[in-house]
Amino acid sequence: MDWSKALTRAEFLASKHRETKDLLRFGRAVLRFQQEIYRRVRSSIRADARRPDTSLLAAFLPDFLLLAEKYGPGTLSAQAQKLRDRQDWEEILLDCWRQTEGPLQLLPRSILQPYVQYLSERWHVEVGVLEEGSGSCPFCGRAPLLSIRNSCRMLVCSLCAHEWSFPEGKCPGCHEGKLVHHRRRRFPNLDVEACEACGHYLKGVDLRKDAQAFPLVDELASVELDAMARDHGFVKFELNLAGQ
Ligand SMILES: [Zn+2]
Ligand SMILES: [Zn+2]
Repeated sequence: MDWSKALTRAEFLASKHRETKDLLRFGRAVLRFQQEIYRRVRSSIRADARRPDTSLLAAFLPDFLLLAEKYGPGTLSAQAQKLRDRQDWEEILLDCWRQTEGPLQLLPRSILQPYVQYLSERWHVEVGVLEEGSGSCPFCGRAPLLSIRNSCRMLVCSLCAHEWSFPEGKCPGCHEGKLVHHRRRRFPNLDVEACEACGHYLKGVDLRKDAQAFPLVDELASVELDAMARDHGFVKFELNLAGQ
């Protein structure tokens, strides 16, 4: 992932969408944090795919929780406060790492994310391609965070940020072809891809409509679409880094 592009896009969208300015500034701070973790992971150790370096990662938690508590949206701030009172942070990170079912706890996921992303990128260089076709990430097995449409449809992993191709119109959760698209005029390059069979949704970013979009950040800027999806009773596969 190109962190500087993501940060620039977040600053640009914060100036464009006033109502999500605070959320985007928080997202930008999280991305900076993750960028720093990524640098440390890449430079300090040969990251292990069997067990993460929890002592390195846990050292980032106190400052990260403070950031989330102070500047994060309400629910995230409350979660950070609770976690700050605990001292078993390495265990919390390990639990998140081992979890294979259901949505991951967001704050530990944000800390693990750059670590697993590094592993995934290294896999590509050292091993090569991964099998595709499943609705969950072929590298780490987690659910997708969002969908990208360009020459074909790609899903982006909520943990390692790996992108893999997946058939258009098909739900990554239940594999049924009952996706409906909800849109708002003010987000011409985005929509909600909601499954009428299993009740889950994720958001889609269409790069053909805005080639400058940075999907992870543009997804974050359109929380209005999340509110709309929730109003229709849909549940997101995985929340974005601001807990929306
Ligand atoms: Zn993954
Ligand atoms: Zn479904």
